[in-house]
Amino acid sequence: MTDSKKNLWRALQGLVWLLGVGILVALFWWPTIGLHALWNVLIPAAPLLVAIAPGLWRNICPMASTALVLRHTGHSARKPVTTELQGHLLLIGVILLFAIVPLRHILLDLNGPATGFTLMGAALLAILMGSRFEWKSGWCSGICPVHPVERLYGSSSVVSLPNAHCHPCEQCVVPCADSTPRVDPLTAKKGRSRIIAGTIMAGGFAGFIWGWFQVPDYAGSAGLSHLGEAYAWPLGGTLVTLVAYLALRPFVSPILLRRSFAAAAIACYYWYRLPWLFGYGPFPGDGMLVDLTATLGPWFPAISRSVTTLFFTWWLVGRRETNRSWLTRPELAKATGSD
Ligand code: SF4
Repeated sequence: MTDSKKNLWRALQGLVWLLGVGILVALFWWPTIGLHALWNVLIPAAPLLVAIAPGLWRNICPMASTALVLRHTGHSARKPVTTELQGHLLLIGVILLFAIVPLRHILLDLNGPATGFTLMGAALLAILMGSRFEWKSGWCSGICPVHPVERLYGSSSVVSLPNAHCHPCEQCVVPCADSTPRVDPLTAKKGRSRIIAGTIMAGGFAGFIWGWFQVPDYAGSAGLSHLGEAYAWPLGGTLVTLVAYLALRPFVSPILLRRSFAAAAIACYYWYRLPWLFGYGPFPGDGMLVDLTATLGPWFPAISRSVTTLFFTWWLVGRRETNRSWLTRPELAKATGSD
């Protein structure tokens, strides 16, 4: 990559990082704005971005920039991650994802400081992983709880962008999620942890999302008394679609099955999320950015659901397979002679 392109990516990374810090500050000082910016703007846009151009997200994600700052400045121990360890890290990432997301209903959706402290905890963990392990192996392609979702939705990238972090490539993870075409949760079935993590995501995430949307937000101390409900619905949904996925496995080609369940998961997300954003949710005020019910009329949910379901089915199942990876692999360290 030329210096001017590298500077452009650095500027973009800096801008998005500042935006992330701005949201973090707002969560403590102006919680209503911070919560809306995070849960009702950034997070609803993220699955679409991850499905269409996962490499763009991987290049500019503020948590990735935080995790890799010590590597960029030469302060990482740069330990290698074995295939077995990477499997364990991926499984921890899935466990974190399934543990944190239900907390939104009973704490994080309505509590700015609690969400702020959770993000700070994640940032500290990201820095710790970056300080110890080489490039993205510890956090971005390791225990980051968003990474399993990237692998699930990102198998059909529209573009392969330059890698704006790893220079040079130290082959820190094999296979590298960024550099492997059509990566998905079960790419390279090596090791029990990796297979368990990949199978839960491939088969169970659609049900997890469906179950999550059946639970309202509970404010204050009411949250604690609904802890069981907050976890039972998404985990129960996970079990149902996971069983269906395992039952269909002998009859459907693995790639088609994985992509169909990935499409079901992201379509289910927008089935609920888009109407909720504009005031059509069943729990008044929950997940609402702005009430447009009077402007858009009663037809909006049906149109929105038809469009998003058709689009993601086509995007992940109907399109011709591409040979694109999320990012192009930078020059290898051995090739450049760099250490
Ligand atoms: S591009 Fe190379 S250095 Fe970067 S995450 Fe992939 S394997 Fe690791």
